[in-house]
Amino acid sequence: MAVVAPGQTLRRLTLPSDQDASGRTLGAEEIAALREAIESGTLTSTKGRFVRTLEERFARLMGLQHAYACASGTGAIHLAVAAIDPNPGDEIVTSPITDMGAITPILYQGAIPVFADVDPDTLNVTPETIERVLSPRTKAIVVTHLFGNACDMTGIMALANARGIAVIEDCAQAFEAEHAGRKVGTFGSIGCFSLQQGKHITTGEGGLVVTDDAELGRRLFLLVNKAWGYGDAKPDHYFIALNYRMTELQGAVAVAQMDKLDEVVRRRVALADDFTRRIADIAGLRTPRIGPGDEHTYWKYALNVDESVIPGGAVALAKELAGYGIASAPRYIQKPAFDCAVIRDQRTFGSSSWPFTLARPEAVAYGHDRYPGAYSGLERVLVLPWNDRYEDEHVAYIAEHLRSAVSAMREGPC
Ligand SMILES: *Cc1c(COP(=O)(O)O)cnc(C)c1O
Repeated sequence: MAVVAPGQTLRRLTLPSDQDASGRTLGAEEIAALREAIESGTLTSTKGRFVRTLEERFARLMGLQHAYACASGTGAIHLAVAAIDPNPGDEIVTSPITDMGAITPILYQGAIPVFADVDPDTLNVTPETIERVLSPRTKAIVVTHLFGNACDMTGIMALANARGIAVIEDCAQAFEAEHAGRKVGTFGSIGCFSLQQGKHITTGEGGLVVTDDAELGRRLFLLVNKAWGYGDAKPDHYFIALNYRMTELQGAVAVAQMDKLDEVVRRRVALADDFTRRIADIAGLRTPRIGPGDEHTYWKYALNVDESVIPGGAVALAKELAGYGIASAPRYIQKPAFDCAVIRDQRTFGSSSWPFTLARPEAVAYGHDRYPGAYSGLERVLVLPWNDRYEDEHVAYIAEHLRSAVSAMREGPC
């Protein structure tokens, strides 16, 4: 499938980027909706119609009863954790290889994040790694479908249901991804999404929570709205809650972005499938492992680099690719979340380190030996940026440079 003859060089390409217009689907539709929102003069979602429309349409897309928009993906996770309502010191199992926005809300809600190891190939938590860290104090499990590749929700739900533990799905990277033919975000009690700049669709910042449970839906609505009982006969501020509302400005853009989501996903998957075919035979590289019946929707394209075959491994390969304007990320988030200062040094509220003061010692022991999957997975992963605005020539460009970089590295310096 080489697109260049030996001796020739590829024309240098600049890849579309999700940080600007080149790699986003923002256009006339978003501008028209935004204009309508501004001309209406109603910019709060409590009175406007765009955020409500977004929520109705997102619930319908997911096939669930309730969806609520909020200020960010981090806010969505906080809403979900607060809706589950842990007692201070309750344990919530999560992944050490995820966005910090999936973890700090647990601490804000007074619960203890307990880290399950990950599968070194997918960097996803598994039923086995979760089971190892469950305790009588486990209140919930937050799973992240990393890069758009689903966790084993069949196994995780069986484990959680048998013990009456709630499951929250972090789908920030996994719009329309599927496990066993069913959308992620519909397995657990609550699904969380992000509309941040770099996600499948965007409003700059923003988030969504979904649930099929009427009681959790009610709590999520109240948690977005300072727990004020809008529409009730005798409304009050019923419990502790913040203002997590999305504005109508974001809602207008989000409604227009929703129209584009199916095509964004279709395109990302088709391009990734083509890329996988192009690079499948490169020794020392492994393409994403996808479960049977699953649909990976490629927020990013994560490669597994075998350092015993490719000298220097993922870090050296990233340096080679950077020379061609391909900005890949070896080690993804660099280190497991529990090695970040906030967790490692328990920097929370004043000098208290609360709620860590309530934790079982084993729940906050982050020994290297307990996380072999996380450490070896981070050593091997190389995260390639992925984008629905890529053309076939971009995919060919990345594949060809990957191929020539790997062969140059294997031959060594001459
Ligand atoms: C982006 C992201 C978040 C946080 O979303 P924000 O909108 O940036 O707050 C949480 N979890 C995962 C897995 C993410 O990728």
